[in-house]
Amino acid sequence: MATVKEAAVGSSPASSKKPEEPEKVPLYAYEKVYPRTVKGRFRSMKTVLVGVLLALYYLVPFLRWDRGPDAPDQAVLIDMVGRRAYFFMIEIWPQEVYYLTGLLIMGAIGLFLATALLGRVWCGFTCPQTVWTDLFIWVERKFEGDRNERIKLDRQPWNANKLLRKLGKHSVWMVIALLTGGAFVLYFNDAMTVIGEIVTGQAGWGVYTFLAIFTSTTYLLAGWAREQVCLYMCPWPRFQAAMVDEHSMIVTYEEWRGEPRGFAKKDTGFEGRGHCVDCRMCVQVCPTGIDIREGSQMGCIGCGLCIDACNSVMDRFNLPRDLIRFDSATNQLAREQGRPVAKVKWVRPRTVAYAVLLLVVGSLMAFVLATRDTTEVSIQHERSPLYVQLSDGNIRNAYTYKILNMVREERVYTLRVKNLEGATVSVIGIDSPDSPDAAIRLPVNPDTIGNFRIYVTAPPSALNGRTTDLYFELTDPDGHSTLSKSLFAGPRQ
Ligand code: SF4
Ligand code: SF4
Repeated sequence: MATVKEAAVGSSPASSKKPEEPEKVPLYAYEKVYPRTVKGRFRSMKTVLVGVLLALYYLVPFLRWDRGPDAPDQAVLIDMVGRRAYFFMIEIWPQEVYYLTGLLIMGAIGLFLATALLGRVWCGFTCPQTVWTDLFIWVERKFEGDRNERIKLDRQPWNANKLLRKLGKHSVWMVIALLTGGAFVLYFNDAMTVIGEIVTGQAGWGVYTFLAIFTSTTYLLAGWAREQVCLYMCPWPRFQAAMVDEHSMIVTYEEWRGEPRGFAKKDTGFEGRGHCVDCRMCVQVCPTGIDIREGSQMGCIGCGLCIDACNSVMDRFNLPRDLIRFDSATNQLAREQGRPVAKVKWVRPRTVAYAVLLLVVGSLMAFVLATRDTTEVSIQHERSPLYVQLSDGNIRNAYTYKILNMVREERVYTLRVKNLEGATVSVIGIDSPDSPDAAIRLPVNPDTIGNFRIYVTAPPSALNGRTTDLYFELTDPDGHSTLSKSLFAGPRQ
């Protein structure tokens, strides 16, 4: 293959040859991949993980969690109408969306850490694209057979047998896609209720729209696009190289042991030649259709299936296993040079940095969650008019005061104003206390926002200039107080 470097050398003035054109690599090339069945350690791990992850995805919306009367009892629910997210005992209000940001940051750092330690282990085992593609390929095998049968079937002209197999496969794919889209919708609605509504045609247009979107994307991405998503659509392979180093465990072909490769029979001697028998089993089982013998490449999702395939071949020829293995570049060099192989270096500056960051963000989130207030307050000083001078000479300011009661029981709060000599407080719709010094009692319904219009009246002498800082102290029934700052305005003194 002509490289750019070779072409540059060829174009030097000393050379009389016409410079070679660098090989043009097409931006997009499609060749259908027919992954072959394989048995082994990595295949078993993948099967278990696919089963567990799919079971979690489909079943979690049916888990119940008792939050008391008038509260949804679905353990995991994003209630768009009620503007609340529930995750078992945790309830997140829209004002607390920063928890979601924290979770995303933790997810990203976790991914960096996993990549630094084990290469593209996320892509190969747990990415939704990998999980659903694996399921769809399993269904495909049930209807169309293993690799060779599928190739044969695709090449033969259409007949009743081919039509039936294809129809069967696509029908099951559609059912899985529908269940996947359906399960997604369940995370945003009460599962038991919305299933009935979907079946009887009584669900809202939003439910049907999202159902249609997720059904079609599952069918297209897992059934048709498959490895094309990893090769062309996903941004992760483009920058995951920045997270791996010479100690990261990645899928590696031991070229120094495998080459020169060549065909072999069972009684072949392997003196003076490599252990690779060029059977291409590693390529045939690969879900992205790449040849790992060409070196580490972006198309490799690190699933390890080629390791299983090659080990079965090595066993057949009584050769040492792991011609393809999970290994670090450092260890590969040591093996090649016949030096002792060191233990995997899990603890390194970058893995420590990722782990510490993960711990810090996780601890911070846990702390904020454990110590968060069950009351939030917002206050707005009315600007039009800024103040009113009453007939007795006193000055009155108006405020909109909101109390977010985050517990599932009615609470009666007490409110006082501070830092304003001789001030009295009245709230529209609430009886004023008998004594002007007594606190006003503000009842707020369970799990709601109480909205109050408050008047503060004070003599002009209470003002130091045109405005004076004013504090509202709200105390909940447990004695926890929240102090909010505002201002009190009056005429120029
Ligand atoms: S499976 Fe192993 S022996 Fe066969 S081609 Fe791949 S590396 Fe060579
Ligand atoms: S080369 Fe091996 S590890 Fe990489 S994607 Fe293909 S089968 Fe999986």
